[in-house]
Amino acid sequence: MLVEKPAAGAVERSSPKALNSEQYHRNLSSVLESADREVYRLLTKEYDRQQNTLQLIAAENQCSRAVLAALGSVVQNKTTEGFAGARFHGGCEVVDCLETLAVSRAREVFKAKYANVQPHSGTGANQIVITAILEKGDRIFSQAMDQGGHVSHGAPVSFAGKFFEVEHYCVRPDTFLLDYDAIREQALRFRPKLLICGASAYARTIDFARFRAIADEVGAYLMADISHISGLVAAGAHPSPVDHAHFTTTSTYKPGGPRGGLILMGRDSDTPFRMADGGRTMPLWERIEKNTFPGFQGTPCLNNITAKAVFFREMLSTEYRDWQFGIVENAKTLAEQFLRMGYDVLTGGTDNHMFLVNVANFRKGMTGFIAQHCLEDCGIIINQNRLPYDTHSARITSGMRLGTPIVTKNGMGHPEMHTVAQWVNDVLTRVEIQGDRQYHVDPAFQSGMKERVQELCAKFPMR
Ligand SMILES: *Cc1c(COP(=O)(O)O)cnc(C)c1O
Repeated sequence: MLVEKPAAGAVERSSPKALNSEQYHRNLSSVLESADREVYRLLTKEYDRQQNTLQLIAAENQCSRAVLAALGSVVQNKTTEGFAGARFHGGCEVVDCLETLAVSRAREVFKAKYANVQPHSGTGANQIVITAILEKGDRIFSQAMDQGGHVSHGAPVSFAGKFFEVEHYCVRPDTFLLDYDAIREQALRFRPKLLICGASAYARTIDFARFRAIADEVGAYLMADISHISGLVAAGAHPSPVDHAHFTTTSTYKPGGPRGGLILMGRDSDTPFRMADGGRTMPLWERIEKNTFPGFQGTPCLNNITAKAVFFREMLSTEYRDWQFGIVENAKTLAEQFLRMGYDVLTGGTDNHMFLVNVANFRKGMTGFIAQHCLEDCGIIINQNRLPYDTHSARITSGMRLGTPIVTKNGMGHPEMHTVAQWVNDVLTRVEIQGDRQYHVDPAFQSGMKERVQELCAKFPMR
């Protein structure tokens, strides 16, 4: 019998069988390994780094593997514009459900009337709010970056700093605490249209009701940026701003979720708003939505939104709440240990997940730069931080910032906080200071410390 040869150049087709979703998404890591060994190796190295070193950066967290799975799924392929139920592309029936789920869970977590899960980041969420209500040249009043505030609150180098008139408030030079009377007086003089509270390096409880009273007195909107403390707020380990502020914003990775941002509104979500240049009056929530798309962003990252939905469900669990209170407990314990060893802990302790230490006051010549780098050499990961009224530049600094979200998540408690404080002290005491950014650590001491850190981390594996 004659078998016909395929024509030259034709590809022999063995009709491929469609995988089901489970098969398609399974073993994604090995798929990457065979597709791109170079990237795969680096990814493996990063996993090992995170597992084998102590993660004490207050701005970092560790999401669950369920969140990772949601990030790396086919939802990433879907493009659309607009919000669930009012999209500009076909095929949105599933992603509409996902976004609606993320929104309703976010509202439940934060007891909010309105939630917008589309911002690509915390910075983006802030920019959406700022540009939703301000005209070019309008006034913003916020905590200065070198006083614990965040760059996106109108620092000169930021987007908002370029297009708006910004004045900053400071912490008290003697106590490093917010001085609400002084903030009020400054606000009465400056008359901002937007008051921003919330910080990246402030260890004490923020009085959102007080900020709102100031905003009302000067006729400003209030935005509370809770990026660092939103996990604590969700669990009740820090008071919530949602019904005090007109807008509450947060990054979603700092409380332990996927990268991205979130905008929440409470009792002011239906407050009417009209741009100064005219246009129709609309509720504040709608103004935020219109300025998210088409105002500020294009297509939403639907895989991140899916991962946010997964994360918000986790946030509602008892386990998540317990973790948040544990974070605060651990931060308090760690701060107490530093105080006990004679360190200058700003404000004398902490109410939240982090605290600042003036390392320049610990040893002559010590800088934040040296602290960060010699600790990193020993497997302890922190960040140097410019302190309020710091005499050093942002590249050298006098401070270090420590946070406990990750070590707490992985199961560390009181005994480990004692050990960690001791080790940090050992390193900062032993390091030989040779300049603002020059130092030497004895190699034998360093490798011994690294090993001990690794042994400790092995007992508290990433979850
Ligand atoms: C980290 C942080 C942000 C920025 O969030 P990104 O998602 O990194 O852009 C905004 N505000 C505050 C107070 C922060 O600490």
